Amino acid sequence: MTHVDTVVIGAGVSGLTAARLLAQAGQRVMVLEARDRVGGRTWTDRSSGSATDRGASWIHGITDSPLDEITTALGMRKIEFTVGGYQPDSRPIAYYGPDGERLSDAAAAAFAADIHTVDARLAEVIAASAPGSSYGDVAETALADQRWDAERTERVREYLRHRSEEQYGVWIDELDAHGLDDDSIEGDEVVFPDGYDVLATRLAEGLDVRLEHVVSRVEWSGDGAQSGVRVAHSVGELTADRAVVTVPVGVLQSPEFRIDPTLPEPVAGALGRLAMNRFEKVFLEFPERFWDENVYAIRRQGPAALRWHSWYDLSALHGTPTLLTFAAGPTALETRDWSDAEVAASVLASLRELYGERVPEPVAIHRTDWQDDPFARGSYAYMTVGSVPEDHDVLATPVGGVLHLAGEATWTDDPATVTAALMSGHRAAEHVLGTEVSLSALPDRLPR
Ligand SMILES: Cc1cc2nc3c(=O)[nH]c(=O)nc-3n(C[C@H](O)[C@H](O)[C@H](O)COP(=O)(O)OP(=O)(O)OC[C@H]3O[C@@H](n4cnc5c(N)ncnc54)[C@H](O)[C@@H]3O)c2cc1C
Repeated sequence: MTHVDTVVIGAGVSGLTAARLLAQAGQRVMVLEARDRVGGRTWTDRSSGSATDRGASWIHGITDSPLDEITTALGMRKIEFTVGGYQPDSRPIAYYGPDGERLSDAAAAAFAADIHTVDARLAEVIAASAPGSSYGDVAETALADQRWDAERTERVREYLRHRSEEQYGVWIDELDAHGLDDDSIEGDEVVFPDGYDVLATRLAEGLDVRLEHVVSRVEWSGDGAQSGVRVAHSVGELTADRAVVTVPVGVLQSPEFRIDPTLPEPVAGALGRLAMNRFEKVFLEFPERFWDENVYAIRRQGPAALRWHSWYDLSALHGTPTLLTFAAGPTALETRDWSDAEVAASVLASLRELYGERVPEPVAIHRTDWQDDPFARGSYAYMTVGSVPEDHDVLATPVGGVLHLAGEATWTDDPATVTAALMSGHRAAEHVLGTEVSLSALPDRLPR
């Protein structure tokens, strides 16, 4: 039977980072990946001629970002697009009111000011909240404290709901009060016009990556001379001194992926308090542009916009008039079984309430389905009510000295991101080697 020093399960950014650093340190490493491609939840579709990122798009803030440092060193072209973090006013946004009319600049500024006012209070309310409070609970407290009239309160309430859905793909009452604690952006946000998947492709070059190897079981033993892991996959079995397991939380929680013996505390408890979300992208390419000039995004308020409320202008990125919207949280569930044509019709009806018959039929629609993807089971993990931010880092507690969990959900500082995947892969490599490893030296040592 094949034996390696470390087996890495999953060829997303976390697994490839760990594997690359371990290989650079001289280890014999094998990466087992269920899909027929690397990259996991970074996935660029080039079938239409332009690069469409069906998974991650943004670096949410490039100031002091190791991910920005690495992607820059790899020569990945980037475009500033500072609107990814559901920010109300960091860049120009066309706001439409509940009646479908565009808000004046003064009205939009007053609305953004209301959000900032509530956010300042919200931070205090969250800090003082009892364990088991939801983001919906703390939002209601912060809103009530303003003593605004019903209309003004409702507009900000909607915004906070949409933030929970767009940032974490979950209804506001299902997200823990601390579920958006990480939601701060340092510096500009950027996207990659040539595709985010370049990162994974470069990290994987020259590594022993076995595609279409679906892992079903990881047996581990931390006992002295017997210590090690045995991994069963769709093509056979192998043994290793250690395993780095980077499959998403939804896979870890599923009966199709067994860890034997089962994960001990505190890891098991932390895993049980996280859950995969529902967050799908809908790209609409149009024959011509019909929306407002010089804005990064379009947002609509009011009950008619409960399902579709935000559209992001990707025209500069795609080279064609393209809007991106999200089916997030309840909308992702509601539209799960709809055809692309039904989704397009629903989005177009909303856009026509704002722009009338100027809205043409789209040339193309691309839509993701991460919630039904067996190797993702959602887009990323969120904190269920009752969890604590530290549950993320706790997930990465080494098990028996031989089993190391990594991946976006294992990084408290900035979970649910590519940054988290990168940093957690780096941490796993350090745990395996028992020594510090330079992350910034990683690109210099990639094959040219
Ligand atoms: C729609 C969407 C939008 C997003 N937007 C952003 C964004 O703008 N910015 C941002 O920073 N982040 C974003 N994210 C999150 C980001 O993509 C992820 O946090 C990150 O890519 C996760 O990397 P990972 O290595 O932890 O997991 P993954 O990339 O999921 O890697 C895990 C790998 O394990 C494999 N695997 C699963 N099961 C098995 C098995 N049984 N056997 C073998 N292999 C298995 C998977 O196929 C996968 O390749 C987004 C994600 C989605 C889906």
